Amino acid sequence: MTEKPTYIYIAGRGHSGSTLLTLLLARHPRVVAVGELANLPLQVARDETTKWVGRCSCGERPMDCPMWGDVLRRVEGSTGTDFLANPFSWRISDIGMEEEYRSQAPVRAPWVWFRNRLWRVLRYAQYYAPQWLRPVLGFYRPQRRWGENRSRLAAEIADVNAVDAIVDASKDPLDMLDVYQNATIPVKVILLTRDARGNIWSMIKKIKPGEPRKGPVTRASHDWVKVNRRIWHLARQVPEADCLHVRYEDICRDPESTMRKLFEFLGLEPHDVVGSQADEDGASDQGHTIGGNKIRFTSEKLNISEDFRWRENLTEDDLAIVRDIAGPMSDALGHEIEN
Ligand SMILES: [Zn+2]
Repeated sequence: MTEKPTYIYIAGRGHSGSTLLTLLLARHPRVVAVGELANLPLQVARDETTKWVGRCSCGERPMDCPMWGDVLRRVEGSTGTDFLANPFSWRISDIGMEEEYRSQAPVRAPWVWFRNRLWRVLRYAQYYAPQWLRPVLGFYRPQRRWGENRSRLAAEIADVNAVDAIVDASKDPLDMLDVYQNATIPVKVILLTRDARGNIWSMIKKIKPGEPRKGPVTRASHDWVKVNRRIWHLARQVPEADCLHVRYEDICRDPESTMRKLFEFLGLEPHDVVGSQADEDGASDQGHTIGGNKIRFTSEKLNISEDFRWRENLTEDDLAIVRDIAGPMSDALGHEIEN
């Protein structure tokens, strides 16, 4: 078994370009992308009786997928877990069936929902507390076990795929810190941010013409600030050597040098991941990602173009709201917002 695969964690707000970043990282021959790993037990639990059926991007249920099936059976063999009978008995994150029931969770699964809320409140309290209070609040830390389990899972994934590093795009900053502080393998965190205008447009694009926009644009702008501030605050607890901020725009405008910098940070050999790739299998495929967006892995040269749809779609009024609310945070993160 690979002794120490590097655990690459992408933290960031949704719609910040994590699919593109994951694709680029996974084009490195020593790296495999797994999607949003925090969701794996949930995807195992989601079967024909639930609203969605949990599947790997290859189309198979996790236990039937050639990659995940192999990984999960190895874990079962060494831990005595039975994933199909009880997918959450071997936890790797706070995500459980409350995620399946969403707004109905307090009624349909009250205990599971309540426990998830409790875990989140408790961890926020632990991570935000002043140093002297942390030992007191740290009496109960289920995340310690999750981090150990996640490391074992990562090691099996790296071994099955014969790589040195795995990319987890789970994105949640709380989950990121759980992994960073409790993993037994090296963790590298990538903080991904995107221009507030592009990010906010992708959050509100479902608004139909003629519908009021002020409220949704205002809420999305506040949310952009809130989520990025939270990520920034929690990431301060990760030492600088293990944490790198990357802007979506930098990836699009200069993918070669951005990726060169990233691979150096990750301790991986330099590799041209933008140009066409040697295709050893003779075919590109979906890979085996779990949760999150489907990624089409191709061996062709990548045509990366920055998504500027916000320019045609955000009005002057929208932009004024975004600038007003998100301007200072945007400046702090080094995103341009004036023009
Ligand atoms: Zn699969």
